[in-house]
Order: sequence, then C-alpha cells, then structure tokens
Amino acid sequence: MSADCIRTVRNYINGEWVESSGAETLDVHNPATGEVIARTPLSTAADANRAIEAAAAAFPSWSSTPVAKRCEPLFDLVRIMRDNEDGIARTLVEEMGKSLPDAHAEMKRTIENLQVACGMPVLQQGDKLMGVSGGIDGEVLRLPVGVFAMIAPFNFPAMVPFWFIPYAIAAGNTFVMKPSERVPRTMELITEYIDHAGLPPGVFNLVNGDKVVANAFMDSPIVKGVSIVGSTKVCKIVAEKCARTGKRFQAMGSAKNHLVVMPDAKMDEVIRNMTTSCYGCAGQRCMASSAIVCVGDETYSAVCEKYVAASKEVIVGDPLDPVYADEPVLMGPVISAEAKERIHSLIEEGVSEGATLALDGRDIVVKGREKGYYVGPTVFTDVKPVMKVHRTEIFGPVVVILKAGSLDEAIKIINDLEYGNGASIYTQNGHYARKFKLEVQAGMIGVNVGIPAPASYLPFGGMKASLFADIKAQGKSIVNFFTEEKIVTERYWPEA
Ligand code: NAD
Repeated sequence: MSADCIRTVRNYINGEWVESSGAETLDVHNPATGEVIARTPLSTAADANRAIEAAAAAFPSWSSTPVAKRCEPLFDLVRIMRDNEDGIARTLVEEMGKSLPDAHAEMKRTIENLQVACGMPVLQQGDKLMGVSGGIDGEVLRLPVGVFAMIAPFNFPAMVPFWFIPYAIAAGNTFVMKPSERVPRTMELITEYIDHAGLPPGVFNLVNGDKVVANAFMDSPIVKGVSIVGSTKVCKIVAEKCARTGKRFQAMGSAKNHLVVMPDAKMDEVIRNMTTSCYGCAGQRCMASSAIVCVGDETYSAVCEKYVAASKEVIVGDPLDPVYADEPVLMGPVISAEAKERIHSLIEEGVSEGATLALDGRDIVVKGREKGYYVGPTVFTDVKPVMKVHRTEIFGPVVVILKAGSLDEAIKIINDLEYGNGASIYTQNGHYARKFKLEVQAGMIGVNVGIPAPASYLPFGGMKASLFADIKAQGKSIVNFFTEEKIVTERYWPEA
C-alpha cells in the first residue's frame, strides 16, 4: 500500500466522526505481510474527556428511555452485523492475523452477546417481596448508573468489547471505549454499523489511542466504572487506580491454561482437540491451552509422540492468501515483530532451562510472506513445573508437555501457578472429572473440551491473577456491574 493511501482511523464522539486532536500516530501492520495498513491516532486526554462529556450529556435521556425501546437499535445492529459479517471478519484478519474460521467464530460470539443483551427487559428486572413486615413491602430496583469505559486488548478486536458494550447500553448507561492501538480498524468498522443502527448521539463513543486515553478514562470523576481486558500487569494498574478513586472495575488479565490428559482419555479425539486449542489464533487467546499435563508414563509417551506429529501437520500461512482457499490455514502470524522476538527469546530460555525442544517453530518461512510475523508450532517436552516456559504466559504457538504421577499432582501443578483462567481434563471417568471441577483453581473448566470458553449467556472470567473483580463478563452476571441496586422499603396506611 502506498504511503498516501494509508488512512488514520477516526474517533466517534457524540454521534459524529472526528479526527483526534493529537498530532502523533502509530502504524498498524498486517501481521501476515508486515505491510502498514492504517494509522492509529494517539488521541489526547482532551479527546477522551470530550467523549466522556458527550456520554454524560446523553445519560439522562437514555437512562429514562424505556428498556424495550433501548433494545430496538441493538436488534437492528444484530441484523446489520449479520449482513456484514464477512467484511468485519476480513478486516479483523487483516489487522490481527487470526484464521478466517477463527474470525467468523469470533463474530458469532460477538453477535450472540448482542442478542443476549437484547433480553435486557428480562435481565434487568428487580425483585419485590410483599410483606417483609406487617403491611410493609420490600423492593429491589436495578437502575442504570452513568458513564462506563472500556479498554480492549488486541486479540479479540470485536468480541471482547461486546462482552460489555451491548449490556451497558441496554441497561441504560452510556459508554466510551478505547480499542487496542494495534487493531483499531475492526471497532471503527463496527462503529459505522452502530451509527447506522441509530443510537442517540453520545450513547456510544469511540476514542483511539494508547494509555493516555485509558488514563483519562480512569482520572475522570464522571466515569462510574471501567472494564479492562489485557495483561495482568496492566490490569493491576487499572484495578488499583479504580479502587483508589472509588470506581467500579472489572480487570480480566493474563492466563496459562492447562489440559490434563488421563490414561483413559480418547487419545485420537484428544490430540485433534488439543491442536486447535493450542494453535488457534497462533496461541494468542486468553483461553488458549499452552500446557499439557499427562498423568502416567504411558500417557506421557503417547501424547508426546502424537502431539508432535499432529503439530507438524498444522497449516501456517497468510489467512487471506487465495492459495489457502480450499484448505484454510489453522494458524496465521503473531501480532507483531516484537511479539515474535519475545516468543523466540522465551523458546531460547526453555532450551537453556533444560527442556527438550521437540519441535522448533522459529525457522518457519511462509513463501511470499517473508516479512510476516510467523512462528511455527513449537513443542517442549521434559518440562518441569518450575521452568519459565511453564510459568509464563508466552501468548504464541508454544506448547509445553509435563508429566504427573497422579491427578492430585496434575491439579497441584495447575494450582501452583499465579493464573487461573481456564483448565480442561480429558477423561471418560466421572470421578476424575468431578474432582477436577471442584479442586482446580480456574474460573472456566472443561471436560473433554479444549477451549472451555462459556457461551454468551453464561459468565466469562477467571480467578486469581486472571481476574481482578467480583463480577464476570457477559450474560446475566454483568448486569450487576452495569446497574445500581436500590432497595425500597414501603408501606401505605389505610384511608381513615
Ligand atoms: P495489554 O495489557 O498490552 O493492553 C491492553 C489494553 O490496555 C490496550 O488497550 C492498551 O492500550 C492498554 N494499556 C496499556 N498500558 C496501559 C496502562 N499502563 N494503563 C492503562 N491502559 C494501558 O494487552 P494486549 O497485549 O493487548 O492483550 C493480550 C493480553 O490480554 C494477554 O495477557 C491475554 O491473556 C489478555 N486477555 C485476557 C482475557 C481474559 O478474559 N482474561 C481476554 C483477552 C485477552
């Protein structure tokens, strides 16, 4: 793309497309080719504050609009997003690099969240208890709160924002959001559809940029609550700031997810399932599994052999290259040259720690895409729980295989790590599965399911350093985050 065709993405404030007031921009790359495809404006705190003020001005009228009427533009948005799903998916692939089937799966969940939020007339209902005392009734009202903000990560440019936006808005709040500066075009495109759906000006606002925008959200006394999804390091910063200023917050952080293979597991199905779980989105999923724990010597040997063989078969390439039209790539590139370098250095560290590099993805070359940020499937065996390759979220297609003598030992390996997002067990034995569900310290558990990401009508979120909040994302549970409970105790005396 020639330099003068490269567009700077826009902000959307008070129902209008506007340019950022900041002079600086960041290049957005197509990670599959290394090409610059757009620029992210580094918006200023003044831009963020303008969006927050627009959202605050829209709140009184939006919050008093009847709930079913608030859902009408969201119903329209479902239709518009469905009609334009292909275009959004391609934009997403161009800037994030995941495979087309992964992008469509993301879009399915994005739209599903919208649909669930359209049930707000039911989800937002309060409670009433007649007769809490003689002639006195108790009532719980669930009311909108005000302006909410969201800070998004790069790996799910459409779905993660939709864990929050439709619920906040349907519940009567107004919203400001900042996409990841690395993938701004997907939300810019979706915001065009939000604009077509006819929300009143100021109800939804988009501000592009980096932590300057995020800090302006947190520093604003107008913003009532912040949702961040990102690395644990950044989530801690946001959670602490919000706690200090009395804001509500949800901070969903990093992960290291384990798959435990028991001796009775259905081995062929397990290997297929683990391959997509570990390599989908090139391992850049908060629910990606990156550690396999095999119980028993025979299970360990069989998994090592079959998993390395299956990993060699994974098709890696540019998901939008027409040569893959008949057989789509399973794995595209990682997000950036820096991410590739970081993953390479962690692989090097694994070798120096003494793990066996059974498959090395560092030398991969994708023909015709030599400037893309590719890392091939990489597998370490003979891994010990204390090793850095096991303890660190690598966020790339690097899998470590460990051995445990028993299910108890496997559970201990998982629970000894700081994170607790997802974990799965492969077994046909109900007793093992029950023990795993009860004892593993992870927020989302799978049984014979490699990516136990809950459907949109169920809560999504981890434990320990993977979630700093009491309230998880999506579904019914997030309505508590986006509403204020008021408890009314009332009575009326009889007429004389
Ligand atoms: P990141 O932490 O680098 O950035 C996330 C967002 O925070 C971006 O919008 C960024 O601009 C902003 N940010 C960066 N520094 C900040 C600061 N000091 N103050 C405020 N905001 C700041 O994360 P990423 O690389 O975009 O995303 C990958 C991470 O997200 C991984 O760790 C992954 O596990 C995690 N993630 C978690 C979940 C979950 O559900 N737990 C889901 C998706 C991704």
